[in-house]
Amino acid sequence: MPTLLIKNAVLNGEPVNIFCENGLISAIDTGDHPADETLDANGMIAFPPLINAHTHSSMTLFRGNGDDLPLMEWLTQRVWPYERSISRDEIYWGAKLAIVEMIRSGTVFFNDMYWDFHAVAEAVEEMGVRASLASVMIDFTDDASARQRQFDRIEREYEQLNRYSDRVTFALGPHAKYTVSEESFRWAADFCKRYNVILHTHLSETEKEVKDCIAEHGCTQVEYFHRIGVLETRFVAAHCVWLNDRDIALLGEHGVVCAHNPTSNMKLAVNGVYPYKKLRDSGAITAIATDGAGSNNNLDLFEEMKIAALLQKFDKDDTTELNANEVLDMATDNPSSFFGLGGRKLEVGRQADLILLNPYLPEMNPPHDLASHLVYSANGSVVDSVICDGRVLMKHREIEGMDEIIANANEAARNMFARVDDA
Ligand SMILES: [Zn+2]
Repeated sequence: MPTLLIKNAVLNGEPVNIFCENGLISAIDTGDHPADETLDANGMIAFPPLINAHTHSSMTLFRGNGDDLPLMEWLTQRVWPYERSISRDEIYWGAKLAIVEMIRSGTVFFNDMYWDFHAVAEAVEEMGVRASLASVMIDFTDDASARQRQFDRIEREYEQLNRYSDRVTFALGPHAKYTVSEESFRWAADFCKRYNVILHTHLSETEKEVKDCIAEHGCTQVEYFHRIGVLETRFVAAHCVWLNDRDIALLGEHGVVCAHNPTSNMKLAVNGVYPYKKLRDSGAITAIATDGAGSNNNLDLFEEMKIAALLQKFDKDDTTELNANEVLDMATDNPSSFFGLGGRKLEVGRQADLILLNPYLPEMNPPHDLASHLVYSANGSVVDSVICDGRVLMKHREIEGMDEIIANANEAARNMFARVDDA
């Protein structure tokens, strides 16, 4: 693996050179280390990359198609009919478009849930980022033999993980309580415990799904998952909006990672607010996330951080709720060890993943408080360069092959919509 020297960066206010070898940061000092590649940071601020804890990468293809519709109308008329026939190639180009967008806004790890594990894994490999990719399960219309075929497909995908580098990790993604049977959820929990892999699902996003669960099982979704063994897995639960105090205590007891998607929650009018403080105090881990581009509509975590902070302040009628440093932790420190990543501190021995932030832009000045600027003033365009695993993925805003990726993703979207619309 080639070595990389990042010269003239600024870390904690001090000028430094950062030397990367074998995928790790091996020196942070003012020394001149001979390296295969040198990146002149030109006074840019070195910062850890951001972590996107819940997205559906290839849904970039659905961006801006079906906004402002009622939730069920959007899903049943603008998403599901097209997803039924989406091809592997279309998923691949959608994922590449998502990854380019994430790199440009400082994200090099995402926790994904989308069809065709291998199509997204190839995109991750080629783009040089990291991801936890969920093999998706949906079985609400399946009979027993279709269910068994799905279990077999997942076992096979898990066995094929060795095709990829360690930047790709395997997760299991039973989609949600309302699309996956109890039998399959129990199978998923067993599978995840057997192989120690992450179980990633949607949880308590809308009031209706929680009420439906109570009507069917006499308990909330969290209690239902507790009963059938899901909380004992390495569990990432996306949304977590409609929770009672007992649910919050259970999520805390089990150290669940709760992926908070404030933009998507507001855009889809879920009519509730993520109970951040109660979840934090219970011991649950809050991680920030964009959700898919169909319901966001971008993948910029800087924007997401600002919206998260504003939503808590507005909801609690209290300006002191969710300060800038806590929001930055949601995108860095909080979920880092769960996903096997470095946290908010850049130090020797950590994975050579980092971003360079441009301090010369108007929105970054006067330089009173970096955390405040990153959450309240900046957006993803302050990211100048991106390094992952000791490789430069974006150099001074340039990503190799970006125009071709955009063109191919546009064609994939055109084909996907035309196939159904013209049928
Ligand atoms: Zn989602």
